[in-house]
Amino acid sequence: MSEKNVFQKIMAGEIPADIVYEDEECLAFRDIAPQAPTHILIIPRKAIRSVAELEDEDGPLIAHLWKVIREVAEQSGLGEGYRVVVNCGRDGGQEVDHLHYHLLGGRSLQWPPG
Ligand code: 5GP
Repeated sequence: MSEKNVFQKIMAGEIPADIVYEDEECLAFRDIAPQAPTHILIIPRKAIRSVAELEDEDGPLIAHLWKVIREVAEQSGLGEGYRVVVNCGRDGGQEVDHLHYHLLGGRSLQWPPG
């Protein structure tokens, strides 16, 4: 079995994280290198490497993740707006091979991204 990536280690409690929400299906924790005043990562517990590997059966899980994103955004005081980013693959800037949503907010964000 290949070595756990950093998010799998966080889920296993092997490295610490500032967890803001968790349930049976997912986990939300603060990014270690925040790119905005609020920068939270939302990840499924299911081992999905990237958005490119989603399957039809993951539909309910993805709907649940978006519900959690909305709730975490609300709890984080992001009523003025926020951005959700999903990097996919090397050209997409994905560094950790476990599906994750970046929730960014707390300042006026620029567009387009780089
Ligand atoms: P990606 O580039 O794969 O879309 O995003 C990976 C994110 O994981 C980056 O924003 C990076 O700062 C974050 N990250 C990497 N290692 C750790 C860690 O050990 N703890 C936390 N909380 N975030 C991490």
